[in-house]
Order: sequence, then structure tokens, then C-alpha cells
Amino acid sequence: MDKSERILMAHGAGGYLMQKLIKEHILSILPKDSFEVGLHALDDSAIVNGVVFKSDSYTVKPLFFPGGDIGRLAVSGTVNDISVMGGKPIALSLALILEEGFPVDDLDRIMYSIADTCREADVYIATGDTKVVERGSLDGCIINCSGIGVRSRYLDYNLDIVRKFRRGFEARWLLDSNIKPGDKIIVSGTIGDHGVAILSCREGYGFESNIRSDVKPLNRMVERALSVGGIVAMKDPTRGGLANLLNEWSEKSRVGILIREEDIPIREGVRAACEMLGIDPLEIGNEGKVVIAVVEEMAEEVLEALRETEEGRDAAIIGEATDEFEGVAMETLIGGKRIIPPPLGDPVPRIC
Ligand code: MG
Repeated sequence: MDKSERILMAHGAGGYLMQKLIKEHILSILPKDSFEVGLHALDDSAIVNGVVFKSDSYTVKPLFFPGGDIGRLAVSGTVNDISVMGGKPIALSLALILEEGFPVDDLDRIMYSIADTCREADVYIATGDTKVVERGSLDGCIINCSGIGVRSRYLDYNLDIVRKFRRGFEARWLLDSNIKPGDKIIVSGTIGDHGVAILSCREGYGFESNIRSDVKPLNRMVERALSVGGIVAMKDPTRGGLANLLNEWSEKSRVGILIREEDIPIREGVRAACEMLGIDPLEIGNEGKVVIAVVEEMAEEVLEALRETEEGRDAAIIGEATDEFEGVAMETLIGGKRIIPPPLGDPVPRIC
């Protein structure tokens, strides 16, 4: 980046441009930590002295959307990033930044939603902060929600099952770098719902759609999957969607990943909206889904357990890791193979 360059919306869109900004202008400047999983891992959460630690800000536009709102999103997003490491979320922080003139009624709605989502996820807001900025300085309300978690009671059992099938497996957490050729890739449900729900109510788009956001805390479903065992990695396909997630896994684990288009669960309404708007459902963010890499021998059992849960009933095995090529490729419906490159950024800005 030269000196005259400025921040673009795409720098916050979860794809290649954001990764580049983070690596060149954030990671390279900060002192390097020596935590078990620190900032340089760029994983879903850090692991600091055995504690799972996550920070996330929420800038979704609009604040209220079909299926959710910024409050439900904040709690779910942070809970999910802690859960996918193999953590059990315990306590969250809530930092509200409000614009002068913001309706107190809207704040109440957001807070009741936060309370409901905390109950659903069995977490508490333990600390917080409230700031107000002048009218015009921001779009109503943004939220930072950080959180801590402890080791899930099923994580060690899960890793023991991995070691039964893979000698020498040493990882203590579910890391992006844990995947080996042969591991099966599972998605916990339909993709693209959140991004399309947000777009459907945006000014200037306003297309007819009955798609609702999938925003949901997934810690209970994740625990259920871990109690089966054999899971090596887990991640939530948020900004940049499934395409970005699989490319991150491929790069950090140094494996190829092959997925099959016909096996990827996508709602008809999402498919239709994406076709109309010319965007790729694989690149759209989700807020109530996880992707799981599991040793081949346990894949069917994990899939079955997921399907028994409400939030995982559409789960599917969509492919596997391979050493036959690098990067991510998809067998298409018409029988060809297509490279899935890392997206430059999510096609829908400010979805989370
Ligand atoms: Mg994540």
C-alpha cells in the first residue's frame, strides 16, 4: 500500500483485501506475542493461559433485519467464535457506541434481544461500556462484544478420538491449521441466508424475499458434535462465506480442499436472489452456521449428531481435504471442476 492509499469498504469485507491490510498494517506493527494461540494465528479466537479470548465489533446495516438484529448478532457472533475453537463461552463484554438522537426505544429492543440471546447461549454480560458520539458520526449504533470461554468439557474426549485414527496428532484446540488430507468437510446447514436477508431489506435493493437471517448462538450444537468426537477443526463462515473459510483452511493447513456443488445446502430463495444480483452464494456471510473438518472415520457419526439438533438439521458432508492439488476446487453440477479463489471481500458490505 502506498502512502496515499485509503481504507476502502472492501478492507472490512473479510476477504483477501482485509487479510492483506491486517497482515501489512496491523500484525507487522504490533509486538509478537507468545500465547498458545496468539494474534498471528488469525484464528477465530486466541488462547491465553488456557482461556479462549475473542473480540468482535458489529456494524450491521440495518440494525433490525429479517430474523435478527444487531444485539442478537453481537452475542451470537462472539459466542460462536469462542465455540469453534473448542471453548465453552462464559462471559461477554458489551460496549455500546450510540449516535446522538438514537431512539431509546430502539436501544431497549436491542437490549431485550441481547438478554434473550444470552439466555439462549447460557452466557452473561459481565462488563461493558456506553459512549455517545455526535449526530452524523455513525449510523445509529455500533457494538463491540468481546468474550472469554473455558475449555469445553468434551474437547479432550473429542481429541482422543482424533488420535485413535491419526497417530501423532498433537493439537490441543480446534485450529485452522489442523486439517490433513482425507478429513471430511461438513457444513451445518444452508449457506447464504444471513447475507441475503440483510440485502433484501437494504435501501436500493428491496427485492421480495422470505429469507431470514440464520443468526444464532451455536454453542449447544457444537458441544453435541464434540461429544461424538473426531473433529479436528471448526470455523464459522462469516464474512467472505464458505469460499473464504475453505481458502483460509487450505492455506493454514497446507492441504487442497475439494467440495461438490450438489452437496452444498442452499435455499432456493437464496439461490434465486444470488442469481438475480449476480453474487456467489459461496462468498456470502452466514451467522448461524459452522463448517467442521472431521477425520473420515467419524464423519457420518458427527453428521448424524448434527442433524439431530434443530440448528444442524440441514447439515451435509460437502467434500474433503486432499493432497492432490493446492487451494480449493469445486466439482460443479455440470460435471466440471472450478477453482474457488479467496474472495476479495464479501459481496455484501456491513453484514455483521
Ligand atoms: Mg470466525
